[in-house]
Amino acid sequence: MANTRQDDRSEPWKDPGAMPYVRIDKVTKKFGDFVAVDDITLNIYRGEIFCLLGGSGCGKTTLLRVMAGFETPTAGSIWIDGVDVTAMPPYERPVNMMFQSYALFPHMTVEQNVAFGLRQDKLPKQEITERVIEMLKLVRMNQFAARRPHQLSGGQRQRVALARSLVKRPKLLLLDEPLAALDKKLREHTQFELINIQETLGVTFVVVTHDQEEAMTLASRIGVMNHGEIVQVGTPTEIYEYPVTRFVADFIGSVNMFEGSLIEDEPDYVRVESAELGGIFHVGHGVSAAPNATVWVALRPEKIHVSRERPEGNGDNRVAGVVAEIAYLGDQSIYLVRLAGGRMVRVTQPNIVRQGGGDRITWEEPVWLSWDSSSPVVVTQ
Ligand code: ATP
Repeated sequence: MANTRQDDRSEPWKDPGAMPYVRIDKVTKKFGDFVAVDDITLNIYRGEIFCLLGGSGCGKTTLLRVMAGFETPTAGSIWIDGVDVTAMPPYERPVNMMFQSYALFPHMTVEQNVAFGLRQDKLPKQEITERVIEMLKLVRMNQFAARRPHQLSGGQRQRVALARSLVKRPKLLLLDEPLAALDKKLREHTQFELINIQETLGVTFVVVTHDQEEAMTLASRIGVMNHGEIVQVGTPTEIYEYPVTRFVADFIGSVNMFEGSLIEDEPDYVRVESAELGGIFHVGHGVSAAPNATVWVALRPEKIHVSRERPEGNGDNRVAGVVAEIAYLGDQSIYLVRLAGGRMVRVTQPNIVRQGGGDRITWEEPVWLSWDSSSPVVVTQ
């Protein structure tokens, strides 16, 4: 789930003087009494792949449709490149939208599908031909120009839809679940293609997805949505490593969540006593909460170490348990470890050494779990 792109790209959102390319300003969208988008303010910068991530019905498609101009916000405004486009119809905005269904014309060839928008704009024939060829090459579909959509695989149809969305050179491309129709392997491959194409063209992408791995791979930044609100905006690393609420911690990746109470509260560390753990977490960051407040500690399965020997130290950040389940997934193994109070803890360990040999930890073995104080995150809501 590593995203390396953000490390070698500029981060305009950190520059208070940078002008956002898209500004969503206090946007609310109601359908009757139902609030689908609830007072969202968000800045997206030029050249980003910004992912709106959330569960079904959280309002992400509605927000995308408001940006495209297919829905009028009940309140608030949308700005693109410094221009208020709230009242502007979709076709006048420098925006294109790629729909979940791809919406290709079944009776047209690949070439005709991609050329359609340019023909409607009555561009010179020569220019249309050149731009269509250029786009089909970019998405590696030039050999399939004469085929019709039903003669293509799902991944090929996706690439044609992408070519058709990009051929008019929009400044902003909105993609609604662009890879949902593809199987896992093709989806992973296409994610990298999408990144390459976006980098080649420098277009700003806003991608709606409910798939957190997809968001982690594609995004420069992610906006996590829940019940019509954006609950956290950050780079994939920030969202994964520093979730600000239980919802975000739980939604992104898998996590062990422990309820506890704050027994020591210093600027650079806290200690949390947790009955569920049957022990104490020492966490290497400060928290703003009252003494003895109820807090939650989120601990990722891959950050827990399993051993037969009791770990050294003063007793914080370690607990004894018994291995209840082991699942071998090839690249990693998942251990479910039962603590004394009955609580199960999920631990993942990479399978660096080939399975079959060695003295491996097995079912019903007593083990110790331990972790570094930089691993857990404390959230207060
Ligand atoms: P999904 O991943 O399932 O597509 P989503 O996050 O994209 O979900 P939206 O399509 O934005 O969700 O819908 C948000 C909420 O608004 C849903 O409860 C939906 O039923 C409601 N909604 C969307 N469009 C309309 C509409 N035209 N009329 C009434 N309710 C609507």
